[in-house]
Amino acid sequence: MAGGLLGRLGAKRHSEEKKFAVERSEAEWRNKLSDPQYRVLREHGTERAGSSPLDKEHGDGVYHCAGCGQPLFGANAKFNSGTGWPSFYEPLADAVETETDRSFLMVRNEVHCSRCGSHLGHVFDDGPQPTGQRYCMNGVCLAFQPGEKPPGTGEDESGKPEPERGTG
Ligand code: FE
Repeated sequence: MAGGLLGRLGAKRHSEEKKFAVERSEAEWRNKLSDPQYRVLREHGTERAGSSPLDKEHGDGVYHCAGCGQPLFGANAKFNSGTGWPSFYEPLADAVETETDRSFLMVRNEVHCSRCGSHLGHVFDDGPQPTGQRYCMNGVCLAFQPGEKPPGTGEDESGKPEPERGTG
């Protein structure tokens, strides 16, 4: 594997032969994703700040993984970080995993989808309360479903029914 070289160049792959619930060949990923999506999700690229319309999206709904469709973030956890990238103070339960990223002479916490391993962005410790975390996401990695209710975003994960919200 040329992982070390790719890492130094910034196009980092996951360190080990980590297996995910959704696995696709490179050809399948190329076919499924647009070129900008492929560069970020599969090659750990970064979209240009301010390029995603989702940075300015503040409606209710759920943000899904563009690679596999897994729900990642509820709109309730989104905030305007001023960075030009869609930012959240917490992911949905078990939706993402992190890995130390030492590319570009920095040590950062890389964030990827727990289901398909696609790179999403990084997480930093300078976010707002209640978590103090800032999940800095590439909008090209996210598929927004307006109006969808986030699953299990309450503090109680034991299945307490959420209050019904009126529609329209
Ligand atoms: Fe995914």
